[in-house]
Amino acid sequence: MSTTADAIRSADAHSAHNYHPLPLVVASAEGAWMTDVEGRRYLDMLAGYSALNFGHGNRRLIDAARAQLERVTLTSRAFHHDRFAEFCTELAALCGKEMVLPMNTGAEAVETAVKTARKWGYEVKGVPDGHAKIVVAADNFHGRTTTVVSFSTDHDARDHFGPYTPGFEIVPYGDLTALAHAVTENTVAVLLEPIQGEAGVLVPPAGYLRGVRELTRERNVLFMADEIQSGLGRTGRTFACEHEGVVPDVYILGKALGGGVVPVSAVVADRDVLGVFRPGQHGSTFGGNPLACAVALEVISMLRTGEFQGRATELGEHLHRELNLLVGGGAVTAVRGRGLWAGVDIDPSRGTGREISEKLMELGVLVKDTHGSTIRIAPPLVISKEDLDWGLSQLRSVLGA
Ligand SMILES: *Cc1c(COP(=O)(O)O)cnc(C)c1O
Repeated sequence: MSTTADAIRSADAHSAHNYHPLPLVVASAEGAWMTDVEGRRYLDMLAGYSALNFGHGNRRLIDAARAQLERVTLTSRAFHHDRFAEFCTELAALCGKEMVLPMNTGAEAVETAVKTARKWGYEVKGVPDGHAKIVVAADNFHGRTTTVVSFSTDHDARDHFGPYTPGFEIVPYGDLTALAHAVTENTVAVLLEPIQGEAGVLVPPAGYLRGVRELTRERNVLFMADEIQSGLGRTGRTFACEHEGVVPDVYILGKALGGGVVPVSAVVADRDVLGVFRPGQHGSTFGGNPLACAVALEVISMLRTGEFQGRATELGEHLHRELNLLVGGGAVTAVRGRGLWAGVDIDPSRGTGREISEKLMELGVLVKDTHGSTIRIAPPLVISKEDLDWGLSQLRSVLGA
């Protein structure tokens, strides 16, 4: 019996089946490449859903983590520590905002944004207590907690997890008219992904984010951008909102902020918004811990140079050019995305997204399917052009294109 089959069998026996991983067992990784327990190598074209924008085992990030491991890793927020102020200052500056509220996972940051918006609504906007509404988009993905799945439209994510948290209004993504109708005097926030990742890398119609910005400003509603997957270099900009020259009131960050090393998330906004919190009203034992701050500071300093955004732009143009050549040839029906991020709709005659992902895995390329016939491509931003081309050639051969 192979090591791989053994490892998968015992994972199946002792872990909850809340995921359906591809049948490989990773033992190590470096840059854009992973090696499995049997020594086979795979090109990682998923990058932990953008948690690994800087690649596996990035030297600068590992060194920053290692140095911090030797000093102090956790204090809880009961005490100050000497990386905290620096982290908050630098992250706020990267976002052009004044304040940071650090958490750990993306879902926690979304929860934090929801709490922020409600408190702001009651204490600043003057919405009657208990009546705050937040408008979200259909087909969103904002995480897995009970409140967050309360406003999901995905049956798998939502069914049998009720009773659901009230106070959310769902409108079609990309539809400004529907959004304008949904906003009332009790609306405290509009919460959106600037590009919907899980939904299949859906880019909204041109002008949508700008329209959301204008509408929310006019109606005194917070625009909260969930940039957990779209942010921090993936689309060729630090934030996907920049493609429309839009600055939201609240950035929600996660994934790549932890450099693929530790979970780090944050809500970033100005003082008139995040200033609503007083001691005891929100928190997290691990949020803003020294190790997290040290790694995130290195991430922020890497983003400051623009190098990774530049790579995402350049390699992304190449990726999209190559993928678009496949459209209409019988194998691919549509390609969407921005920067080094693409959703590729496979013609169902060529197999499901899962089948394509499994075949690609056999050829040494790792991607992930979503929604039946779509595959998602999001390699680490450190991938070389040669490796990207090799991955694309494997995709063409699986598709018979
Ligand atoms: C991944 C993701 C989340 C949830 O992050 P977790 O760290 O998995 O909790 C939320 N929003 C978006 C857009 C994401 O891509």
